[in-house]
Amino acid sequence: MSPRPLALAGLEPLLIHPGSNFVNIGERTNVTGSARFRRLILEERFDDAVEIARQQVEAGAQILDVNMDDALLDGERCMRGFLNRIAAEPDIARVPVMVDSSKWPVLLAGLKCLQGKGLANSISLKEGEEVFLAQARTVRRLGAAVVVMAFDERGQADTVARKVEICTRAYRLLTERVGFPPEDLVFDPNVFAVATGIPEHDDYALAFIEATRILKATLPHARVSGGISNVSFAFRGNERVREAIHSVFLYHAIAAGLDMGIVNAGALPLYDELDPELRERVEDVILNRRPDATERLLAIAERFRRQRQRESAEDAAAWRAAPVEERLEHALVHGIDQWIEQDVEEARQRLSGALAVIEGPLMRGMTRVGDLFGAGKMFLPQVVKSARVMKRAVARLIPALEAEQRERGGTGRRKARIVLATVKGDVHDIGKNIVGVVLACNDFEVIDLGVMVPAQQILDRARETGADLIGLSGLITPSLDEMCHVAAEMERQGFALPLLIGGATTSRAHTALRIAPRYRRAPVVWVKDASRAVGVVQALLSPEQRGDFVAANESDYRAIRERHALRAEGRRLIPLVQARANRLDGGFGSYRPPAPRRPGRHVFPDEPIAELIPYIDWTPFFQSWELSGRFPEILDDPRLGAQARELYRDARAMLEQIVAERWLAARAVVGIFAAHAEGDDVICAGERFAFLRQQADKPAGERANLCLADFVAPADTGIADWLGLFAVAVGFGMERPLARFAAVQDDYSAILLKALADRLAEALAERLHERVRRELWGYAPEERLDNEALIREAYRGIRPAPGYPACPDHSQKAQIFRVLGAEEAIGVRLTESFAMIPPAAVSGFYFSHPASRYFVVWTHRPRPGRRTMRAAAAPALVPGRTLALGPARLRPGVTP
Ligand code: SAH
Repeated sequence: MSPRPLALAGLEPLLIHPGSNFVNIGERTNVTGSARFRRLILEERFDDAVEIARQQVEAGAQILDVNMDDALLDGERCMRGFLNRIAAEPDIARVPVMVDSSKWPVLLAGLKCLQGKGLANSISLKEGEEVFLAQARTVRRLGAAVVVMAFDERGQADTVARKVEICTRAYRLLTERVGFPPEDLVFDPNVFAVATGIPEHDDYALAFIEATRILKATLPHARVSGGISNVSFAFRGNERVREAIHSVFLYHAIAAGLDMGIVNAGALPLYDELDPELRERVEDVILNRRPDATERLLAIAERFRRQRQRESAEDAAAWRAAPVEERLEHALVHGIDQWIEQDVEEARQRLSGALAVIEGPLMRGMTRVGDLFGAGKMFLPQVVKSARVMKRAVARLIPALEAEQRERGGTGRRKARIVLATVKGDVHDIGKNIVGVVLACNDFEVIDLGVMVPAQQILDRARETGADLIGLSGLITPSLDEMCHVAAEMERQGFALPLLIGGATTSRAHTALRIAPRYRRAPVVWVKDASRAVGVVQALLSPEQRGDFVAANESDYRAIRERHALRAEGRRLIPLVQARANRLDGGFGSYRPPAPRRPGRHVFPDEPIAELIPYIDWTPFFQSWELSGRFPEILDDPRLGAQARELYRDARAMLEQIVAERWLAARAVVGIFAAHAEGDDVICAGERFAFLRQQADKPAGERANLCLADFVAPADTGIADWLGLFAVAVGFGMERPLARFAAVQDDYSAILLKALADRLAEALAERLHERVRRELWGYAPEERLDNEALIREAYRGIRPAPGYPACPDHSQKAQIFRVLGAEEAIGVRLTESFAMIPPAAVSGFYFSHPASRYFVVWTHRPRPGRRTMRAAAAPALVPGRTLALGPARLRPGVTP
């Protein structure tokens, strides 16, 4: 059963997927939820009321709840009047509307005004099945999705059992009798107030949470929603406590599967950031953990009410009321670009000049960002956001700056300059771009030459611009050779600039053994990740630090060379004939490989991106931003959690845009062809794939010396066997959004988009592999694995990719592409180093043998104490990640 999104729309679509983030439904346009809104409507001040809607959308509401249920109002007229007014405001009307009324005629009046696809909130069984079904049919005819309240002929459901019983009955009636698509059904199991002093109410929050859990598990495709602020009704007037109750309640309800809720999107404190004492007492109430929970919360509630009043007076106006220089710093440190241009203008008037603004408040702000980052108190995504603010500020100042320079007849202080490039044959640049942003934040001038840059071009530009340093980046193993070439050319052409080396496939060892010896005139330094770049560059450029730094680096490299020399002597390789004699027995005496159901080639010209989202493996995504930890646990990590959640929210929001605005096209081609093994080669579709065999000296009888060819039936057995080949890519169409981001100096979004495209390419590879196993090859038609199991590779068969440890030779990609006609079929190309273009792409082999597994062909052992090492970087792999490949893990590609 593939999950189906709930598709809603205002002027823009809103797709809610099973894996989507919680959807905020703005509650302030509800006369029962907001006293201010009620007053404005009563006074017929519709224009002011529209502003509340706008604020809600700006504060992050993804749907607007509109409710006019008040004894003093003509509900139908107000509903129509208000909806028609917001329909004329594109920045409000872009979000879908939830028409909210307990009166059917009002609901009907509202639904008739909606453009796009909204929600009717709500219908229920309170007047029996006939009325319910008739109303549902009408809602469906008017093109809306529907919220069903847990309310039947006997009244509102307050226990778990009643909530589940009513919703299940409604689900059956709607899907079976009305033909309502189940993904258009949203159940509201009733949020009632807790801590009212009435003991029967103590279990209400927990009952909602439990019912949510059950409904999500038992009613396929349906969603669950609730009116969140009801739960805190007992604390009316004490907003601080109410907000805490909402955020604790949501924390648990979302974990149980709550998809959406009516909330005040602008006033939800982070669960993690609540005062611990308050949080604990609120949690006691929500989870009904102790009989005196209500009393204990009441006991501290007053204290928090007073605090709140003080604070809100402060922070509302607070930083916007500060002097402009402080505002600029604040905006930089918090990455807020909303007011940056006007503030920069104001500062320029006050400080008499653009240069003064840059060298004063902007530099102070960036220095603080640098310090906080250095101290581990800020993380990469935040730094990149701060850089976006800085870039916008500077872009705004440039005309004035140029004029000032002309007047003064000279340039300002010269910054240190670094030329960065991804080397020839390689196209990956996420890591390099992050380094560039981080350096720019620290007041270095970064000249980024982009990707696939030939050695001579790098050197020429460094010379022309009078650069102080050169930085090279690469992701695939052939780039290592290219870096050696650049180093040798620097030596030959008499350069004396420090050379920095970075990227997933690079390593301290390779730099020490292979690159540094080729360029003796200046230091060659391996930079482990973006967060070290600033320290390294500063040390190299500082007259005081440079000596010590270079000496330490050199002694480190010397040690590596010595260790390597020793190890090379001690390393034991067995002769190839002996390794071949110890091959894996594929059991072809009795085992018969499965014949493909649909052999030959299959092209998938346009795979819906939305369907790939549930297949994303998020852990490497966080690694690409140097937030390391497993997903989803990282979202609750005490140190990284807040930052991880923010990044995840941004990523989710961008995914929605990618889908809704069709930013990216996903294409794939696969083929399953007759194949047989000949020694260590596999012959397939007119190609000979020459695989390598492990030559480690393994204890006798312990394990085979593996080669991928062992997983295919040898020719002399006469047994029919097959090999699968695939190429997938998701990066098509990326240029346009990237150009838009570049135009507004938005590196953050550009890097985010590239990182997401990489993830989607891996997700497509995963999804396609699943289809191959279940349908095209069809040897596992019954397989049903969730994403976690797919990531664990709990299935039969493997999809090794050229460039990775079992088949490190990247040139096999050219063979795969030839057989599949990949370039003609889906437009994916290879560079001279066999990097794929677009970069968000994956290609490889499918092996079906039950014993097939990943392994490493190299024979030297990892250094003690390092449990995992980086695997060979294949395209679409994020710099800096490690792969969990079972017991044998080695850094590949580098055979020093
Ligand atoms: N869920 C991960 C999947 C990619 S990493 C993600 O989204 O990033 C795992 C893939 O790397 C495998 O499917 C295979 O294509 C490749 N791979 C890993 N180890 C390998 C090895 N030892 N030899 C060949 N390919 C390997």
